[in-house]
Amino acid sequence: MGKRKTKKFASMKRMISLKDQRIFFRNEKDRAKVQKTKKKDPSEIKEKEVPKYPSCLFFQYNTQLGPPYHILVDTNFINFSIKAKLDIVQSMMDCLYAKCIPCITDCVMAEIEKLGMKYRVALRIAKDPRFERLPCTHKGTYADDCLVQRVTQHKCYILATVDRDLKRRIRKIPGVPIMYISNHRFNIERMPDDYGAPRF
Ligand SMILES: [Zn+2]
Repeated sequence: MGKRKTKKFASMKRMISLKDQRIFFRNEKDRAKVQKTKKKDPSEIKEKEVPKYPSCLFFQYNTQLGPPYHILVDTNFINFSIKAKLDIVQSMMDCLYAKCIPCITDCVMAEIEKLGMKYRVALRIAKDPRFERLPCTHKGTYADDCLVQRVTQHKCYILATVDRDLKRRIRKIPGVPIMYISNHRFNIERMPDDYGAPRF
């Protein structure tokens, strides 16, 4: 008499996930190779990350916004302000009725420096002590990607730009108001009503 085989209930065959690399790469060395090549440069701008809906947004009402407002400015915004003879800090306060701190990222500063002598006024304004300097850790100096990444990750900024493409990109991100120039003054769009921002 052999041993009685007892039927096992509720036991399942262990399955390997179809996505498991072991299916494609039997050899451990190959697997290690794949893992190595997958490692990316952490300083690279990750634009394709799916934005998670941040907890600070109560529907569209961004609770992280509030005076003093931190306003990211891009190169063109400074240039257009100079053309329109608008003092940036004063015009921001006239628009929002609150203390505003313009912020310049390293790559926007680099962009202005690259423009050369013709834009020395812009450079002088960007170096104004009332402006806050935000250091960049990413590679390259493409400012638009940098600004988009910043407002995606941190919902505490207003973005000031006159660039149509950049505005379009920002509008896709919830909870980020946009400051722009029209009729010789600064205006703001997508600002929650409760902040008392005037609408023109
Ligand atoms: Zn940057």
